[in-house]
Amino acid sequence: MYLTKVEGKLILPDQTPPSNLQYPPDYYSSSKALLETALEKIPMYRSWKACDPGPQASVDDRYARMPALTKLDINTNFPGGVLPPEVELSAALENGEVQFIQTSGTTGDKITNIWNQPWWDASEKSSWKLNTHLARIAPGNHREAILVNPRNVGIVSDEVPLPMEDRRLARFLYLNEKTDPTAWPAEHMDRMIQEIGTFQPALLEANPSYLARLCRYASAGDKTVFQPGAIVFTYEYPTRMAIAQIRKVFPEVPFTSSYGTTETGYVFLQCEAGRFHQNSDFCRVDFEPLKAMHGGPALGRILVTPLHNPWSYLIHFETGDIVKLETGGRCPCGRESGLVLEAIAGRRANLTLTCEGRLVTLLELDTCLSNLPEVSIYQLVQLNQRSYELHLVSHVADREKHKHTAVSLLKSLYGREAGIEVIYDADIAPESTGKYLVSKCLFPIDLDACLDRQNVKGGCN
Ligand SMILES: [Zn+2]
Repeated sequence: MYLTKVEGKLILPDQTPPSNLQYPPDYYSSSKALLETALEKIPMYRSWKACDPGPQASVDDRYARMPALTKLDINTNFPGGVLPPEVELSAALENGEVQFIQTSGTTGDKITNIWNQPWWDASEKSSWKLNTHLARIAPGNHREAILVNPRNVGIVSDEVPLPMEDRRLARFLYLNEKTDPTAWPAEHMDRMIQEIGTFQPALLEANPSYLARLCRYASAGDKTVFQPGAIVFTYEYPTRMAIAQIRKVFPEVPFTSSYGTTETGYVFLQCEAGRFHQNSDFCRVDFEPLKAMHGGPALGRILVTPLHNPWSYLIHFETGDIVKLETGGRCPCGRESGLVLEAIAGRRANLTLTCEGRLVTLLELDTCLSNLPEVSIYQLVQLNQRSYELHLVSHVADREKHKHTAVSLLKSLYGREAGIEVIYDADIAPESTGKYLVSKCLFPIDLDACLDRQNVKGGCN
């Protein structure tokens, strides 16, 4: 690779995307207009101007040189500094065109967003065409049952069970009003199973760990559950164990995973062939590869720019997802618009390190632990450079042998010198956000230092 210096800055050759990548006709013009408005008019991007090589450079190149937008940037500048001055936010809040909503991410950092419901609905609907089953059964007025933590969506009622009619909203039924799934009584799970049968949803949208819990209960009691047209996993990475537990109860139902954030709308949907396709009518996605020692160049992080939302000027937002590109960029399903991913490899908050300092994604850990039998739930916590705790919920009879298998699997991943403690728990609770963090590291990991800087141009320094 040849590097040249122009005006004191290091200029890297263009990253040529796979030649078969196609985008909607207005993808580049929208990306360009949004970037120029942000750089010219929006206080949050003031310091980014120095990174811009200018309109003579390609849109991809200009984006590639921008830093990553973080939740902290948004919080620091919200609301006046995140919009162009001519946008009249207070009038739109007053007439209900938009509203403020507060979210809490997996890492616990709260953020306030400007919520535009029609755009959100359009982004969701657009994503459905990326999966044949969803395109067929989800015309927009279909019945949908939702099994998630009410802290994420729905109504919280921990003490008093809410009747079904109080958990209905338009075409939706919220199956669960309780925030702690480890405290679900049998009657609560029986009620959910019974309501799925009464409501007969075309689509069941579920946080995979919550649906897996319900399915373990249904399997143990040999209970029959109504089979919806499809199941969509949201909010969490579905572990192989969770998918196997859900598959036992829903043997023929198509599963898919949907990835997005409150800030960016629907970003990737898993097609019927198992790959993930970019919802390129509604968002721009830039990929930044990791160094080869950490799994690059196919493995990296994504930075998302929502498109066509008049209330969003977020550029290069770091969603926290680590993804693995499909080699060659093609999928057997034939869809060709936007990036194609082999897998979502988990979240940044799920990353751990081997004893030698190599990044381990949740995908890699999960693949390794899928060889451990008789486990309901697991959680891996890295305490320091060489110490790991593996928490297991398991009814296995011979714990010593089981423990030995677990340690040997993890040593093959993290290194022979890894200190691994296996702890059998009665249950494992989700984080305070309502989502499970299947793996986590208790000390900070410098992801920026793991990016392949030869192929990541972001930053102005
Ligand atoms: Zn596909």
